[in-house]
Order: sequence, then structure tokens, then C-alpha cells
Amino acid sequence: MKVIAEYLWMDGVKPTAGIRGKPRILELKDGITIDTLTSSEGLSHIPIWGFDGSSTEQATGDKSDCVLKPVRVYLDPIRTTANPKYTSILVVNEVMLVPGNVPHPSNTRAALRALAEEFKDQEFWFGLEQEYTFLRADTGRPAGFPEKGFPAQQGPYYCAVGADRISGREIMEKHLFVCLDAKLLIAGGNSEVMPGQWEWQMGNGTPTSDPLRVADDSLVARYLIARIAEQYGVVASFAAKPEKDWNGAGMHTNFSTKEMRATDVHFPLIIDRLRANHDAHIAVYGDGIQQRLTGIHETASYKEFSAGVSDRGASIRIPWQVAVDHKGYLEDRRPCANADPYVVEAMVMKTVMGK
Ligand code: ADP
Ligand code: MN
Ligand code: MN
Ligand code: MN
Repeated sequence: MKVIAEYLWMDGVKPTAGIRGKPRILELKDGITIDTLTSSEGLSHIPIWGFDGSSTEQATGDKSDCVLKPVRVYLDPIRTTANPKYTSILVVNEVMLVPGNVPHPSNTRAALRALAEEFKDQEFWFGLEQEYTFLRADTGRPAGFPEKGFPAQQGPYYCAVGADRISGREIMEKHLFVCLDAKLLIAGGNSEVMPGQWEWQMGNGTPTSDPLRVADDSLVARYLIARIAEQYGVVASFAAKPEKDWNGAGMHTNFSTKEMRATDVHFPLIIDRLRANHDAHIAVYGDGIQQRLTGIHETASYKEFSAGVSDRGASIRIPWQVAVDHKGYLEDRRPCANADPYVVEAMVMKTVMGK
């Protein structure tokens, strides 16, 4: 049987890595189901592959080969809908150096994999609020902005309804269904404060929301939004600050450990550790962070760490329910929309564990 496998990986572009993908037609023995392919056994059917790293800022032309090592398999809802005759899958890969045993320097997943293993008994869960902005491919302006000038000032657009307030809903809705079909841990979404700006949440506050799964699912969700938006002549941008005088786009990172979900006794210690490592976090929380974390537009200044209950002007927000229950999770509001989920989660885990 033929299986169409879209191999996905992160490139080496700086300062913001992007997603690359190419399909490979696999000839597998008959009768392998999508359930098998997406189970832990699935990877044994998916061969390693390669690509030209000199075109993705991961190698030089004279030593161009990089290795793609499959690490997780999903149903590809887009190709499955386009032609249900075939089994179509999305394959997340780690980029490895030839011949495939050592992670490539751009492979940020490898470090998270090691931490996830080291701190397995902590049972970390993550929930990433991925904001993004639809930009018209022709003009580069946010969808919902007029040709010239600006829309009425922000306020009515967040969680809004109505053609005067919303742009790109059809893409957002398609993306939601496609993410569900791929069995991503998508937990919801909403329109954001700037016109053309949206959010989804990856990670659903259950034990499945482990660090690697949530980061892999985020990568796939980013790929899928870009893929769907292509059909509308729109770019789903993860730029941190697409428009100067408007809210930027973040990737608020909600996290908890087994202990945090049982009691908040160590919350002050965790917050102290986050404060002590503030600059190191800012350094890896995405491109344009100084422009986004200004201290206005629902942000805390990148220059200063702060934490507070219900405070959307703080670096770390303690959700009110958590303050009432004396247990739960924390929200790190600092990461930018274009931050690398593997890097952000690894940074949070290291700091929380005092490593
Ligand atoms: P906000 O009020 O900041 O907009 P959202 O509802 O958009 O918050 O996102 C909250 C995210 O936190 C969701 O992805 C949710 O699944 C996740 N979350 C909830 N509980 C936990 C928990 N205990 N640990 C980690 N993440 C959690
Ligand atoms: Mn949110
Ligand atoms: Mn938001
Ligand atoms: Mn948030």
C-alpha cells in the first residue's frame, strides 16, 4: 500500500526558525492502518530520510546532507480530505548529522527530549497559547486593516463576532477542525486584540500534555495554519510585533508539575527562580521581544521581572483560580509568538527544577 508521508522539520534560519516539509511516497505492506502508523509502533514503518541542508541554513554546499529522523506521526487531514483513497500522514522529524546518531546544532528538540526524560517523575504539563496574525500576502498588511491608515483602535476585536470586527475566521475554523482530525491537543482558540490576530491553545491540562507532545503538536499546528492560509493568499505570521501601536503576538506558556497541581507551597520558590533567570529566559523567548514587551499592551517590560495574581501586565500571571485553590499552574507571559516551543519549554523546566 502507498502511504503519503509529509516529512516536517525545523530549519536553521536565524533568528527565527521556520518549518519545512516535503512528501515521500512510502510503499508499506498492505493492511497497515492509520491507528498503527500513529501508535508507538508506527515509527518502525517510517524510514529515516534526508534533505539539502545548504538550502535551509543547516549545512554548507560541500557537505549538504542532513538526516531526518522521524519522531512522531499524525494523520494528515488535508491530504486525506483531498483524496481519501490514500493514507496520508504528517511526520515530525529531528534533524540529525550524517549518519543519524548525533543531533544537528539546530535540533532544539533533542535537548527537551533529554530534560523530559530526566524530569519524567515531575510530570510536567504545558499549555501554549499560540497567537498569530494573518497578513495579506500581497501587501504584508494585517488582514482587517484598511489599504491606507488604520482600523478603529483596539477594544472591540477580542473574542468578537461580525464582519466589521473579524478577519480570517474561515481559515481559523478550518484549522480548528484539521487540528482535531490530526488529534492534536488543541484546547480552544479566540480572535485577539488586534484585527486579523488570532490564538489557539495547545495542551489541554491533562496528562497527555507532556512537554514533547505539546511542542510537537505546536509545530504541526503551525504548519497546518500556514498550509491552509496559502489557499487564501494570506500568511499566518508569528511575528512578535507586527504593528507598532497595537498588541503584539505572544506564546504564553502555562506549565505545572505534579507537585504544583497538588499544592502551591513551592510557588514562591519557583517564582524566585524565574526572577533570578529572567534575562536568560528573555534571551531565548523569540525575536523582537524588546519591541513586544514594552510594559504596555498587556505586557510587562522585558527589563524587569514581575509576578502577580490575575495580572496581565506581569511577566508571570498566577491565574485567580489557582490563587483561590492554592494549587494549579503558572502562566509565563513573556515568550513571543515566534519562539521555539522546544526551547521555551526546556528553559522553563530547567529553571523550575533549579538546574
Ligand atoms: P488565558 O486566560 O491566559 O487566555 P487560555 O485559556 O488561553 O488562558 O490558555 C490556558 C492554557 O493553559 C490552555 O492550553 C490550558 O489547557 C492550559 N492549562 C490549564 N491547566 C493547566 C495545567 N495545570 N498545567 C499546564 N497547563 C494548563
Ligand atoms: Mn489565551
Ligand atoms: Mn492571547
Ligand atoms: Mn494567556
